[in-house]
Amino acid sequence: MNSRIPAIVVHGGAGEWRKERREQGIRGVKDAAQIGFEVLKRDGNALDAVESAVMSMEDDEAFNAGVGSSFTLDGAVEMEASLMDGRTLTAGATGLLRNIKHPIRLARIIMDKTDHIFIVGRSAEKLADIFGLERRDPQTTLRAQYWKNLKAKLQRQSLAHLQRLSALLKSNPDFSTLDTVGAVAVDSGKNVAAATSTGGISLKIPGRIGDSPLIGCGTYADNEEGACSTTGIGEIAIRLVLAKNTCNLMRIGQKPQEAAENSIKEVNRRIDDAPNHMGLIALDPNGRIGAAHNSPHLCWAYMTPQKSNAKPMLKARIVKEKA
Ligand code: ASP
Repeated sequence: MNSRIPAIVVHGGAGEWRKERREQGIRGVKDAAQIGFEVLKRDGNALDAVESAVMSMEDDEAFNAGVGSSFTLDGAVEMEASLMDGRTLTAGATGLLRNIKHPIRLARIIMDKTDHIFIVGRSAEKLADIFGLERRDPQTTLRAQYWKNLKAKLQRQSLAHLQRLSALLKSNPDFSTLDTVGAVAVDSGKNVAAATSTGGISLKIPGRIGDSPLIGCGTYADNEEGACSTTGIGEIAIRLVLAKNTCNLMRIGQKPQEAAENSIKEVNRRIDDAPNHMGLIALDPNGRIGAAHNSPHLCWAYMTPQKSNAKPMLKARIVKEKA
């Protein structure tokens, strides 16, 4: 009998958590961990648990996923999400969604009901209609305000900066609002799963796809390794295939905490874009967990059989060293 399983870890995004949303973020990740853990306790599988946890954060305006998503450069919302089952290595992913209430639910439908893994845009939304998924306007007043402020700043400093995301990030440190959500879980059958959902970085060029819906970059799960969900500047996670990289480290015997820290060290060593904000959560089939980031904050929570309440935090292990 393994006393560490079932277990769940969730995140509500790396980056800089501004004061006005901290309390709500902490509450949101705590609730999400508890909701996912309830599913696991009722003998639900890890996949259902990560889906439920992410759905609860998609309903919470504090996070940049579902309602509360960041705006694109032209003031629209384009949400994306993915999830993966470590038992079967099946996955579902979606993107360019304007008003689907729960993008992660649509990713699950793509996984369960189609022959594909990744469907975006209008056809994805059509599929959502076929399966009766609800729609909702994801734009909130707070995100509209952030967008207006950032856009005004960007216009003052010339739009030419948009030619290179890294150049833009250097000159506008608060350019990106990083509050993507994610979850990793292991069930009592030792099956792992991962899920991630986001509005993407704010002021992204319409049509831009980040790491969150990309299997291996933002989301990965394999019962032979573990599970990982990443958050931060998506382009960095894509370049390093970060979620899969973290799982590979667990495959060669590293504990999830060690793997999480080593993955961030790798980011620090290989990527010199500034700001280079990344964070991730990980867990293995034995219920050991990990979380690390190089950003000022990572809003996250976990729940294990030893805890009667989920433990939410604004920071995990901050890693500044290089691999
Ligand atoms: N990784 C997400 C993206 O680049 C942003 C985030 O983690 O908040 O789209």
